[in-house]
Amino acid sequence: MRKANNLALITAIFMSVAMSGAAVAESTFADQLEMLEWSDPERAAQMVDAATPLAAESVAAEIDMLEIRAMIYADSTRDQDVYAVERRLETIAGEGNESAVRAGMFVRAYAARQHNQYAAAEAELKGIEISAIHSDTERYRVLSLRGHVLRILGQDEAALPFLEQALDLANKMHDELRTVHARLSLARIYTDSGNFDRAMAELRSARTIATKLGDETSLVETEERQADIADRRGDRTEERRASLAGLEHAKGSGSSKWIQLALLNLGDSYLKSRDFAESLKYSKEALPIMLRTNQHDDEQVTLFNEGLAYIGLGSIKEGEKLAEGAITEALAGSDLLDAKELLREYADALEHAGYLMMAIQVYHRYDAISEKFMTNTRQRAFLELSAQFDDERKARELELLRRDNALKVSEMRGQRLRQQLILAGALFIAFICAALVWAFARVSKVNEKLRFSSEHDPLTGLSNRRYFNERVLAVDGGRPVGGCVLLADLDHFKRINDTFGHPAGDAVLAAMSQRLSAALRENDKLVRWGGEEFLAVLGPMSPTQADMTAARLLQAVRRDPVLWNGHMIRCTISIGYASFPMAGADTDISLDSAISLVDKALYEAKRRGRDRACLIKVVSARDEKDLTTISSEFESATIDRRVQLVEILGAAA
Ligand code: GH3
Ligand code: MG
Ligand code: MG
Repeated sequence: MRKANNLALITAIFMSVAMSGAAVAESTFADQLEMLEWSDPERAAQMVDAATPLAAESVAAEIDMLEIRAMIYADSTRDQDVYAVERRLETIAGEGNESAVRAGMFVRAYAARQHNQYAAAEAELKGIEISAIHSDTERYRVLSLRGHVLRILGQDEAALPFLEQALDLANKMHDELRTVHARLSLARIYTDSGNFDRAMAELRSARTIATKLGDETSLVETEERQADIADRRGDRTEERRASLAGLEHAKGSGSSKWIQLALLNLGDSYLKSRDFAESLKYSKEALPIMLRTNQHDDEQVTLFNEGLAYIGLGSIKEGEKLAEGAITEALAGSDLLDAKELLREYADALEHAGYLMMAIQVYHRYDAISEKFMTNTRQRAFLELSAQFDDERKARELELLRRDNALKVSEMRGQRLRQQLILAGALFIAFICAALVWAFARVSKVNEKLRFSSEHDPLTGLSNRRYFNERVLAVDGGRPVGGCVLLADLDHFKRINDTFGHPAGDAVLAAMSQRLSAALRENDKLVRWGGEEFLAVLGPMSPTQADMTAARLLQAVRRDPVLWNGHMIRCTISIGYASFPMAGADTDISLDSAISLVDKALYEAKRRGRDRACLIKVVSARDEKDLTTISSEFESATIDRRVQLVEILGAAA
């Protein structure tokens, strides 16, 4: 595994400063120490430890110095010393010093970062109000650390502005060393985000200034960054060249921090080219330095690389022990990403060395860790997703509520519409019923009128023969008749028509019908039987009453002439009549037979000279057959007295 140095804050000072004397004179001791801490923390620590504590010029200077001391202690993993600085800062802060409060936060952040607790570091740094910092060096320190922590946390976009601000500040301060460091930090973030060209541009600028300053440690970092880019690009040759160049500069600087880093990366470089013996040589060279400088993380990576080199060389037992140890350490630190990466490299090494069964087992562990890593990631993603679902669900519930309301409104509208339709339907039906009733009444009225006109004679207003046939004969025609039946016919009516014209005849007919009606009782039925013939059916009456009725009718007609157009038109009638039940008849006589008999009697009245009424007084008939015979031979029947007639003369009436 390749390793990048953690923090680009400070650079070598004593050596480089010695070459640029003017800068030394202007630099404060604290500033020089800070720069040395970046380039060679081991020597910086020695200097701090060796320095006789002098009374600080001011509280501000003391706080500044405390921050730098804390950084130096933290880089050497001297937690107790860091803690002591924190206590001292707390004391000053307790006196109401805001700078000390801020410095406390910075120190805690720096120490947390040194223990790979980046979230805790960010939490501290977040509390620092950068705009409230007056000192440029302190501001640069905070900006750089903040950018560094955010980058490790994977928040590149948030990190970039802090690192850019740090560069701006370094430029503003005309501080070339800090400018180099700031550019190296930017090169790192551009490399991580895959922006290699931009990263290379930053490295070129850094290299130019570092070369001018003769700052070997900055050149180590420049070469290491370039090796990293080459590694990512798969350019083995360039990676090797840069890594070797890095080691040269590191040796030139004499800084154990950079020497161990360069050695570690070379070990990795040779592992990749399967030059295990060479790899092992560099790792073994790096280890004692790391042990001395207390760089536990780097030590584990180096041991791991050493293990892989052993495996490549066929020393499986030795290799397994070292690799497993490093993996256990990574897992203990709950750095799953690191552990995952180590397992993958371990499995690859085993596979290449021919330890296939072991490789498979390690691949399985790699899969399990990947799964666990994915689960952690997935759990976070799931929480984010479920929050998103909550929002969507709320939106959906609102939408459902809105649709439900709309549904209710439309239901209400529908209900109202249905009610309106029912009402309209009811009104329509009522209207139709009323129209039908009206139409029915009207049709009935029309029918009544039609029937009336079809059953009545328009000239005289009397019922006509059709009426009588349908309403009387059809119903009662066959039943035995009980009463008086009369048939009257105007005498020589044809002559009236011929003499005075047809209208005169009509007038006479109308006048006659009125006279006949007037001569009968209200309940008697009078029908216009033919052209100038009238039938009267009267209720039961005595023979005398029947004779009186006949006489009255004869008289009613003949008494007064009809006055028409200045003409006095005289009229007479002839009548045939009979009362039923009939004397002499042993059988019931129906209305049909009765009319037929009186028609014969009327004929007899005509024959005997007109203006008279002939009554059939007796009919000697035993049965219906006799009646039919008598009717057909009426004249001879009167002679042989099967029929007895009595005559009433009109003039005598
Ligand atoms: P009789 O004494 O034998 O009955 O002789 P008549 O002329 O009355 O009888 P006939 O049967 O020879 O003539 C009847 C006439 O009555 C013939 C017909 O033109 C006429 N008549 C029938 N209906 C009407 C009518 O509604 N108006 C008029 N003006 N004449 C009618
Ligand atoms: Mg006639
Ligand atoms: Mg006549």
